[in-house]
Amino acid sequence: MNENNVQEQLKEAGIDILKCMQCGMCTGSCPSGRHTSLNVRRLVRHAMRSRDVLEDEELWMCTTCYNCQERCPRRIDIVDAILKIRSIAAHEGIMLPEHKQVIKLLLEYGHAVPIDEMNMKKREELGLDRLPETVHKYPEALDEIKMLLKVCKLAEIIE
Ligand code: SF4
Ligand code: SF4
Repeated sequence: MNENNVQEQLKEAGIDILKCMQCGMCTGSCPSGRHTSLNVRRLVRHAMRSRDVLEDEELWMCTTCYNCQERCPRRIDIVDAILKIRSIAAHEGIMLPEHKQVIKLLLEYGHAVPIDEMNMKKREELGLDRLPETVHKYPEALDEIKMLLKVCKLAEIIE
């Protein structure tokens, strides 16, 4: 495996970012880039050149809307590449603190955003059950979720 094993893993997944000609069509089509520092053309170039792309915060600014992928004249699977690179980064424990926090909540409650007292009250005011039809209401299902997350080794990723 060469120095830039990110690119090799992309290749193994059938994604060839080396076809990129840096035309910028992807950046011009990117709604997220209008509101954040994400420049998808630059991100692709970063991935072509170095495994440091795993540390690139722009990696996490894509909303996976697929605009760029639909318009790329070289038919590069840009979003699939971004998702694959995110996956490699996550498996190496490289992620934002917010991601780790979400994983912790998921491991404990089976929800990325667990319900709180305020939301339970609001549900009651709307004539709904205090708890939604999720693991909040069915603790035995939470055990099953925890088992699945254990098999996925999710806890090990954030250790
Ligand atoms: S649109 Fe495609 S070819 Fe053009 S810069 Fe983006 S990834 Fe590269
Ligand atoms: S999929 Fe991501 S990078 Fe592509 S246009 Fe949408 S937000 Fe931008």
